[in-house]
Amino acid sequence: MFHTTIAGSLPKPAWLAETGKLWPKWQAEGDALARAKADATLLWIKLQEDAGLDVIGDGEQSRQHFVHGFLEQVEGIDFANKVEIGIRNDRYKAWVPQVVAPLRLKGRVHATEARLLRAHTSKKIKFTLPGPMTIVDTVANGDASPYADRVAMAFAFAELLNQEALALQADGVDIIQFDEPAFNVYLAEAADWGVKALERAAQGLTATTAVHICYGYGIEANLAWKKTLGDQWRQYEAVFPALAASTIDQVSLECIHSQVPPELMALLAGKDVMVGVIDVASDQVETPEDVADTIGRALQFVPKHRLIACTNCGLAPMQRAVAEAKLRALADGAALARQRFG
Ligand code: ZN
Repeated sequence: MFHTTIAGSLPKPAWLAETGKLWPKWQAEGDALARAKADATLLWIKLQEDAGLDVIGDGEQSRQHFVHGFLEQVEGIDFANKVEIGIRNDRYKAWVPQVVAPLRLKGRVHATEARLLRAHTSKKIKFTLPGPMTIVDTVANGDASPYADRVAMAFAFAELLNQEALALQADGVDIIQFDEPAFNVYLAEAADWGVKALERAAQGLTATTAVHICYGYGIEANLAWKKTLGDQWRQYEAVFPALAASTIDQVSLECIHSQVPPELMALLAGKDVMVGVIDVASDQVETPEDVADTIGRALQFVPKHRLIACTNCGLAPMQRAVAEAKLRALADGAALARQRFG
């Protein structure tokens, strides 16, 4: 009961990449960079285990960004000629690569880090991939693209994600999670084709499948946008019924310090819910009591055996010491909740 896991990313050590940034520059290249990525992954495996987490991830130490880490291994994308577009329905401006030819995987994307993770922990392991809808919101459909529109492009990406997901499963990954922050931006489209594209990406998997949805990190553009959403963030009301009816096993969403009404979690009946009990937008470290209280609130809407304690989102831009303390709070809080509600 109340297993613990993180949404995905963890801060990169200063010797691996610039700290405190979402798009950090690497501090090395070639073989030295590969070694540094592996060392950082090993470090976080140890720290997650020491904190007492039940499901361990690679902390996304080997990718610069949660979307572009995957795209770098995809053929048919022009990274040299980026264009500036508004992403997440114009919430941010970003320079993005363009799709210019049929999309194909160049080879394995995450074999190295997945196998490293499997070799160095006996706990369950989770691996994250970007979801198809979020990918097509972070690239441009170039003039030479063979895809008619974003939907066609999303299903093409879903096929590639599926190839990598099946290979990750063969590497011994227990849980494969797709990150779909775009699901709270394009509500009708998410319910219409976003969930179907996600199911395509997860097709044929016998590993546990998950989707992480969120309102993002605590960066400034995000905080400004959140102010426009009002007191109650009910966006998920539109997409949760489609997710509840889908083949995906687990849904990760934010809870602590979030304006998402907790009763919306009741719309996810039949799914495991990864409830965000750790705020990623604040450096204040939660107490185990805070965590147990949040679990208690979620238990009004999620059955005990379906509740997994998680972070609201990735911890990538945080200071390492804060992130480490938050991992311990997560595990200690879930232990306290087991005593309280067990
Ligand atoms: Zn997130």
